[in-house]
Amino acid sequence: MKISIAIDGPAGAGKSTIAKILSDKFNLMYINTGFMYRAVTLFALKNNVQPNDIESLCKLINSLDMKFINNRLIVNDVDVTNEIILPEISKNVSNYAAVPEVREKLVDLQKKISKKYNVIMDGRDIGTVVLKDAPFKFYLNASPEERAKRRFNELINKGIKVEYNNILDDIIKRDYIDTHRKTNPLYKASDAIEIDSSNLTIEQVVNKIYHIINSKL
Ligand code: C5P
Repeated sequence: MKISIAIDGPAGAGKSTIAKILSDKFNLMYINTGFMYRAVTLFALKNNVQPNDIESLCKLINSLDMKFINNRLIVNDVDVTNEIILPEISKNVSNYAAVPEVREKLVDLQKKISKKYNVIMDGRDIGTVVLKDAPFKFYLNASPEERAKRRFNELINKGIKVEYNNILDDIIKRDYIDTHRKTNPLYKASDAIEIDSSNLTIEQVVNKIYHIINSKL
């Protein structure tokens, strides 16, 4: 049976942690679509391509071969996972992700992957655009302060020096751009189940989703 799970929500809501665990439980390929927008941003910054230079941006994306291996993103045979999570990329990614041509290319790629494999995908437009027909859709949310706290701890644990206030500021700015852009903005799909994880542990969120899916299978 073809099953696919869509998880949307704002930055730091716990999507990727939860999706990784569920991908193991249900034997699904996990696609972190945020990583794909981050990779475009990384290469655009490296090549000095601005978000308004559409032609160069499209050329650049066409030159990127993106693959997920063991939940890591490999671009043109190089593992870029550690680089794309750096604050410099977080600060710029929403501006590139708001470009309609960038979205068109990445959404197309994500749809192709989802036709080939059983997937769990997380992002901002998965339940509303990429996996519109997914049987299971979730919208994960938490307060900005809680999300900033989690991102802060995650980065500090990876040895990356950051300030809590800068993370909170970045999250609030990204939320605004992601929910206000014209093309595929972030919003909850009407058939998605919303879970506020502010006061829940990872395990509690996973169990909630796991039981909802199992009861429908
Ligand atoms: O999920 P993550 O926070 O890593 O995503 C980084 C950024 O990529 C988001 O803030 C958003 O601008 C963009 N994004 C998007 N659509 C997706 C996934 C991510 O616009 N499906």
